[in-house]
Amino acid sequence: MVDVIVVGAGPAGSTTARHVASWGLDVLILEKRDEIGKPVQCGEFLADREEVIGIFPQAKGLDELDTVPPEVVQRRIVGIKIFTPSGRENVIPFKGFTVNRDQLDKHLASLAQEAGAEIARGVVVQRLTGNEVVTDKGRYRAKVVVGADGPTSIIARSSGLQPPSGLSSALTCQVDGDFEPYVEMHFGSVAPGGYAWIIPKKKCANVGLGVWNRAESSRVRSLFNDFVSQRGFIPRSIAGGQVPVSGPVDRTVLKNVLIVGDAAGHVMVTNGGGVNVALICGRIAGECIAANLLNNEPLQRYEERWRAVVGSPLAVALRTKRLADKFFGSNRRLEFAMRLMGPKRMGRAIRCKRVFRR
Ligand SMILES: Cc1cc2nc3c(=O)[nH]c(=O)nc-3n(C[C@H](O)[C@H](O)[C@H](O)COP(=O)(O)OP(=O)(O)OC[C@H]3O[C@@H](n4cnc5c(N)ncnc54)[C@H](O)[C@@H]3O)c2cc1C
Repeated sequence: MVDVIVVGAGPAGSTTARHVASWGLDVLILEKRDEIGKPVQCGEFLADREEVIGIFPQAKGLDELDTVPPEVVQRRIVGIKIFTPSGRENVIPFKGFTVNRDQLDKHLASLAQEAGAEIARGVVVQRLTGNEVVTDKGRYRAKVVVGADGPTSIIARSSGLQPPSGLSSALTCQVDGDFEPYVEMHFGSVAPGGYAWIIPKKKCANVGLGVWNRAESSRVRSLFNDFVSQRGFIPRSIAGGQVPVSGPVDRTVLKNVLIVGDAAGHVMVTNGGGVNVALICGRIAGECIAANLLNNEPLQRYEERWRAVVGSPLAVALRTKRLADKFFGSNRRLEFAMRLMGPKRMGRAIRCKRVFRR
């Protein structure tokens, strides 16, 4: 029996494990992939610490962002260009950087290992029964089990918690070339209910799109092919994935189980970014588990704490997204709404702030 089992060595799992292990507790991460972070299913764009604090003023730590090794960082980003359906450009200053996501995940896992966590790779978790984690390589027991196993979380499903109900289908690829230091977001019928992106890296870019609407998921491949070919790009490393777009789930703690990151819907739904939120909530999860095991504090404190730190911005983003959904059905209506908003309000939406201030 170990103190804590964390399922998933993504940003949420490794950060949770790191913060539990730093208190001297035994932590075992179970990761189904043989190599952490691969294949990459991500746009690989992260907001700078300063931007993250602007969005989540209560967030603490985030030293993970300061310690990202220079070779993992690909490109500094100075802004986001948002394109309306007619191609009208809106420039929003926004500081961030792109990374090699597989290397970032390995870096976060190494921080967990340095703190004392163990990682078992190539272990597929099949279900949770009581406090026993059943895998293809045997059974493991723990006092606390963490589901950091992504948007379709098996831990959420087998513990009685619910993973996010709304998932957007997304496809991404890499294309070669030199790109300006701006992330591009293209809205309209190019990606119904979602957006298409071009995210610059060193001598290449990630190009992809997500359709944030169940009805359009079957068309994601043809929409993606159209977007890529219309720009003359030759795609390589095509990868798909799912992004939670229904906001945080109602409940993230049940008995001795908690869920974090995509498994808990910890994603900013106005931009699809989840890595920064996973780092914030992973730290909170780790600290609350340590307080539970060492000082008998209720595990439920985790739910209260993450809601106090990221709950309100994520809820504002969800409301903005639901409002935007009313315009997504027609390019003409969306064009009108986006022109009415202008770049300032678009920047507020991206940063999970109320678009129209009271
Ligand atoms: C196409 C795409 C582009 C994106 N672009 C961006 C972006 O540019 N910036 C950004 O911030 N966010 C982006 N996101 C979202 C971001 O990738 C996620 O929010 C982030 O990865 C969440 O981290 P996590 O640790 O919760 O989950 P994950 O990173 O999904 O990690 C989950 C881990 O659990 C493991 N796992 C799953 N099931 C099991 C099992 N049964 N047994 C053992 N291990 C298991 C997986 O192998 C994985 O390593 C994008 C998502 C997609 C799909």
